[in-house]
Amino acid sequence: MAEETIFSKIIRGEIPANIVFQDDLVTAFRDISPQAPTHILIIPNKLIPTVNDVTAEDEQVLGHLFVVAAKIAQQEGIAEDGYRLVMNCNKHGGQEVFHIHMHLLGGKPLGPLLSL
Ligand code: AMP
Repeated sequence: MAEETIFSKIIRGEIPANIVFQDDLVTAFRDISPQAPTHILIIPNKLIPTVNDVTAEDEQVLGHLFVVAAKIAQQEGIAEDGYRLVMNCNKHGGQEVFHIHMHLLGGKPLGPLLSL
């Protein structure tokens, strides 16, 4: 069994977070340390630690992350100008919380993809 992170507590409402969307499959909340005017994390309610742990069974929830991302981008008023979706994996990807999450970033020109 994978170890729960702080994100499981946010999903269950056990610790505060600025939740912008929640349904049976996913939860979305504002990043505590925003890197852009809009910075929202969209996560599966099911604990999947990293992209390496994804299986075919997860296809529905992972597809749903994109549907919800598009909906939130509309709500935030950033859909037309554009935005970036990022998912980090493990050490070289810069992953810090081991419950997969899609970063939705926008609200200004974001510049080049990588700063190395
Ligand atoms: P990553 O480096 O891809 O694992 O991203 C983890 C993200 O989670 C970072 O952008 C953090 O700022 C964010 N984060 C960590 N704890 C919280 C929290 N309690 N509420 C909201 N965002 C958080």
